[in-house]
Amino acid sequence: MSRPFPTPPVLAYLLLGSNLGDRAAHLAAARHHLAAGAGAIVAQSGLYETAAWGREDQPAFLNQALAVRTSLSAEKLLAACLAAEQAAGRERAEHWGSRTLDVDILFFGAEICASPALTVPHPQLAGRRFALVPLAEIAPRLRHPQLGLTVAELLARCPDPLPVRPWLGQEPAP
Ligand code: AMP
Repeated sequence: MSRPFPTPPVLAYLLLGSNLGDRAAHLAAARHHLAAGAGAIVAQSGLYETAAWGREDQPAFLNQALAVRTSLSAEKLLAACLAAEQAAGRERAEHWGSRTLDVDILFFGAEICASPALTVPHPQLAGRRFALVPLAEIAPRLRHPQLGLTVAELLARCPDPLPVRPWLGQEPAP
């Protein structure tokens, strides 16, 4: 899915997550990093505290969904997401393990792509309440290009039992 430059901007939806250190500060730093390197953040959900998915013997996550208007290709947007993770000092120790920052691409416009490095829409979105709840806050009517359901409909059908609650902590000063 290479896009010749210049390209019209695309609305991409990202999910930020952190469960190590100052979680809210890691999300704030990620927003700054992405706004500088990927494109304008045109919508952002509140912060949600969510039980760790996949491996439950670890601290709870903070998650947040963003809508980013980007002129990058999907591959370059992924590189910007990985750079934001590295700037937060992320080390890739174990699958589904604790991390200072995780940035996933949930949607890249209505594009569908499956390459070794990138799958969009994110293949696990429909089964992850921690992604659907923040995404539904900013884009409930967004339609999944493969499943044909809106984000609100995916959330209503989501079988994931893990709790997702609005976070009541203090955001760091901008
Ligand atoms: P993880 O940090 O465990 O979520 O895995 C990150 C890796 O998953 C990245 O290095 C990507 O190559 C790959 N990946 C595949 N699809 C996506 C996606 N939609 N968003 C983010 N990473 C993805």
